[in-house]
Amino acid sequence: MFLHKLTALLLAFTLMGGCAGDDRKPEADPVPEAPPVQQEQTAPEAEAPETEADAPQAEPTPEPRDITLRLTAVGDNLVHNTLSFDSRVEGGYDFMPIYGPIAHKIEGSDIAIVNQEVPLDGTVGGYPTLSAPAEVADALKAVGFNVATLANNHMADKGAAGLKATIENLEARGIHTAGAHAADLPGTLMLEKQGIRIGILSYTYGTNSGLGDAGWVIDRISTEQITRDAEILRPQCDFLIAAMHWGEEYQRTPSAGQKAFAQKLADLGVDLILGSHPHVMQPAQWLTGKGGNETLCIYSLGNFTCDQRDQDRMIGALLTCDLTFAPDGTFLGYETAALDGVVTHCTWGSKNFALYMLEDYTEELAAQHGLHKHQKPISLAFFQERMAGMKESITR
Ligand SMILES: [Zn+2]
Repeated sequence: MFLHKLTALLLAFTLMGGCAGDDRKPEADPVPEAPPVQQEQTAPEAEAPETEADAPQAEPTPEPRDITLRLTAVGDNLVHNTLSFDSRVEGGYDFMPIYGPIAHKIEGSDIAIVNQEVPLDGTVGGYPTLSAPAEVADALKAVGFNVATLANNHMADKGAAGLKATIENLEARGIHTAGAHAADLPGTLMLEKQGIRIGILSYTYGTNSGLGDAGWVIDRISTEQITRDAEILRPQCDFLIAAMHWGEEYQRTPSAGQKAFAQKLADLGVDLILGSHPHVMQPAQWLTGKGGNETLCIYSLGNFTCDQRDQDRMIGALLTCDLTFAPDGTFLGYETAALDGVVTHCTWGSKNFALYMLEDYTEELAAQHGLHKHQKPISLAFFQERMAGMKESITR
């Protein structure tokens, strides 16, 4: 950790030095900077024990094998205050009844990414300035998430102090963050798993409030910034992810702007685009970048969880990919890529919140859903139809 901070400080210093009165293009920099690698390696596969060079029965060196990483991702973790009220226990909060039921889909992933939409500063804030207890991070970690993207419109709801507390609460639990950061640290994230380097970028169209402190930053969508970040990270990682908080709320199809920007990201060599913010799912699309690279874009994963009173917002997508890499780290392609539905269940009065995989959701549960008392009742058939469209969109 110390090394990480030291490297980051040195890096920030180098960056500042490089920028002062100097309009060189980034590619002209002799040494491209990258965020320090967050060491969270899983143990590499055991190698055959070394034998002495002159041993008579030395075993042949095993052929290096391809490496497969499991990546999972969900959309907006929109923890409304009603979810926190429902999770109160003696002396604190317990969010495991909400997240626990889908743990089997996340745990064991090499990379599991959630868009943490509300500050986790320990307070419980209602709309429009949302916030939630740090125990949310305990539950996210317990079910297997290890990355939270923070560039989204609610992340400034509790100002710089709320952002700082959120980053501290997540990082303290081993959940790495991207997209919101101290101004002297990079917002991009680099993780290493099984020797494979994964770069993660996170940007938002904007924020609802200001941070009120120049020492903290939430990264914005800008062609200039993303091009600069991608040009630095791309050569230093084996797989590059861009989490984009973008698009029109409640629209089931991506806007022309999202589509054009997705192609731009593919052209920059981004391998995976994770869209969020519309609060409803928007389809997946396979793109080809100008370098001939294949890019998977999910325009919107929808809500991971929320208490929004519309059935379209109560179902979100969970992306599961197996990524194959050559022994030297070259990305060989998506071995599998699938989308599954996650339903936010609750009963009348915003009680008994729990996530269900769509395949585990039943007519009986749908009939008990709290939204039946609102204008748009829940129907299992509706969820199944929405998910069928998403599944079709990711099929090649
Ligand atoms: Zn949002």
